[in-house]
Amino acid sequence: MLTRHTVATRMITNAMHLHLCLTLRLMLSLCLLFHTSGLQADQPPQQTRPSISSEALRTARAGTAATAAAPRALPRRARYVLIVSEDGMHPALIREQPLPNHERLYKNGAYSFRARTISTASTLPSHASMLSGVDSHEHGLRWNNWRPERGYIRAPTVFSLATQEGLSTSAIVGKFKLRHILPQGTVETFVRPGYYCRKVSEEAARRIEADQPTLMFVHFSDPDEKGHSAGWLSDAQRAAARECDRCLGTLLEALDRRGTLHETLIIVSADHGGHSHGHSGILLSDLQIPWIAHGPKVRRGYAISGRVSTMDTAATVLFALGLQAPTNLRGRPVHEIFARSGEAEARP
Ligand SMILES: [Zn+2]
Repeated sequence: MLTRHTVATRMITNAMHLHLCLTLRLMLSLCLLFHTSGLQADQPPQQTRPSISSEALRTARAGTAATAAAPRALPRRARYVLIVSEDGMHPALIREQPLPNHERLYKNGAYSFRARTISTASTLPSHASMLSGVDSHEHGLRWNNWRPERGYIRAPTVFSLATQEGLSTSAIVGKFKLRHILPQGTVETFVRPGYYCRKVSEEAARRIEADQPTLMFVHFSDPDEKGHSAGWLSDAQRAAARECDRCLGTLLEALDRRGTLHETLIIVSADHGGHSHGHSGILLSDLQIPWIAHGPKVRRGYAISGRVSTMDTAATVLFALGLQAPTNLRGRPVHEIFARSGEAEARP
């Protein structure tokens, strides 16, 4: 039989348990509420005519949000990455004539001459996909000229993500409209030394030799220019491809002189091919692009068997630099270019 004192003690104990449970529930609810509102606050904001600097901050934040869930450091496979985009370079322009510097890279590296750009096969949307790893409806750049009033890319790029991690970055381009992809704050230097590849490559080489950035983008206009004026795969465009080969040689010589060729993952690709005097994206000839990779741990003389998309360039660059990819990335790292232990690697 329970005494009156025992009953009172049990009632007090039960009341304390109830109070403790309610307190814990309240704390849990508050935690969930705080966490949910935090996620909402991290969503990339809608873009309405931002200034360059505010847009740069937004892009950088988008990159931060996408990488915030990465608790562990990823392995890094290359000390440097150099992306070379040859505007309008149809794969046949490389395969059907001697181009010694391109050959040096693909015969000692991995390559595909049937890679594809996105269906919006024009310069600005395609390059945006190359550097962001998402299609045009996601990155938002669906026009093809310099229209600052329309704002900047809506997706993180390899440059905004690298900059966010404190890596040095540089873009040397032949067309200023590419600024839509690389607004101020997402890349350390963005310069347009001239339209054609000679001045672009000389400026890029100078910067490589002075202080090679960890991530560099170099853009050559020549094949696109001659494609529009003289026709795709015309003699004039084949000559423009040979000029691009000399410009690529200028970059390789700079890496040789700096002694970093063996530490640099080089990806040579294009934004689109073309037919007749344009590249509407209707024909396969418009969509096919070269994709050549050369550098540390890259297989030697390896023909890539899988389908490569231009969006895979961004994914492969992030993979090589050990940067966490955004969860919505459409591109995938081209894993098959990397040698397994014991296999032949690219040789400078
Ligand atoms: Zn183009």
